[in-house]
Amino acid sequence: MSSRRDFLQQLTIGIGVAALSPAAASATIANVKKSEKQLRVALMGLGGYANMVAKAIKDCKRVVLTGIVTGTPGKIPEWQPAYGIPDKNVYSYDTLYQIADNPDIDLVYITTPNSLHYQHVLQVAAAGKHVICEKPLADNAQQAREMIAACKKAGVKFYVGYRLHFEPHTRELIRMRKAGEFGRIMCVNNYMGFKIGDPTQWRLKKALAGGGAMMDVGVYALNGARYATGEEPLWVTAQETKTDTVKFAEVDETVTFQLGFPSGAIASCGTTYNFNNYERLYLIGDKGFAELSPAFSYGPTRGRTHLGAMNQPIVNHQTVQMDGLADCILNGTPDPGMTGEEGLKDMLVIDAVYESIRRNGEKIYLNKKGTV
Ligand code: NAD
Repeated sequence: MSSRRDFLQQLTIGIGVAALSPAAASATIANVKKSEKQLRVALMGLGGYANMVAKAIKDCKRVVLTGIVTGTPGKIPEWQPAYGIPDKNVYSYDTLYQIADNPDIDLVYITTPNSLHYQHVLQVAAAGKHVICEKPLADNAQQAREMIAACKKAGVKFYVGYRLHFEPHTRELIRMRKAGEFGRIMCVNNYMGFKIGDPTQWRLKKALAGGGAMMDVGVYALNGARYATGEEPLWVTAQETKTDTVKFAEVDETVTFQLGFPSGAIASCGTTYNFNNYERLYLIGDKGFAELSPAFSYGPTRGRTHLGAMNQPIVNHQTVQMDGLADCILNGTPDPGMTGEEGLKDMLVIDAVYESIRRNGEKIYLNKKGTV
């Protein structure tokens, strides 16, 4: 990793002063300050998803991108002028602790590879900034517990990037379930997977990914089973299928898992890194049903229930997530299911999924109160 000084030196060489004059930079910050109720965000780990979030923030009413944290100096000349980020709001992983003294940044959004989430959340909490961490929250439940404790101790808010909790079809499904419109929930069938490309990417390396399809996108099927039932599972069984032992030498390829809930509802779920067109949430109650398909990717999300098409608005998931979370942080609006604790609940089940796979599909019991 390079130092911040190296970054800024690189910046001068790379784009010159004209691309982001100090006047332009301070004008951007001045605009931010003028708006009282805006959440000022720094993105950490400027890869594919950070790019998507940064673009989505441009359409936010209550959020502004004011900083970046990167280990790749070469990205700075692109990001600074694109988002009007001044030199003083550019950090490396090594200088991240200095963000503590920066009043232009309220929250850091962590979009680094999965296995770095733990250390990065602890660092952001230590710097006294609110934090949103991408899914999966951590490598395991123990790390998630420690992350929650660190944020509590530091007095900062801690969220996980479960964008669907602000997605209108998903919210309507949850509203209908809470209103009893599906009756007693009997069964959930959720799938989420895709065929992964580049065999050299970090997602296929256990040390950076923590696990494979289950960690990356199986978490959507799992989280969806929890919000479709409104319950925490009592038991888990799981099976792994590996058809390519070279590409998937370090991580899981295809996982199927089953959950049993206190009410008697069951969920049958699947995830894969080895085929496409595998995405659906299907909820069956004794009075009705709901189907979302696509349910978990960026959409456009579509849904139908026993009453017909859901006809909910099509939104940019990241824009509504960021504006929604800003509302929670700035105005105390109730959180819709994106706290660190929600991430922990999923990590407890993921631990149990892997444990069941290790024990050839044996039933793993979670504690009686649910999973926490
Ligand atoms: P990516 O590979 O495109 O970006 C990762 C970034 O982390 C890169 O900028 C890379 O330079 C940086 N990085 C820092 N240290 C690194 C290291 N040691 N090795 C590799 N890269 C390192 O990945 P991505 O698709 O942006 O995913 C990032 C995170 O966001 C993951 O946790 C992923 O699960 C999550 N994600 C969430 C969604 C969602 O819809 N919520 C979608 C995509 C990704």
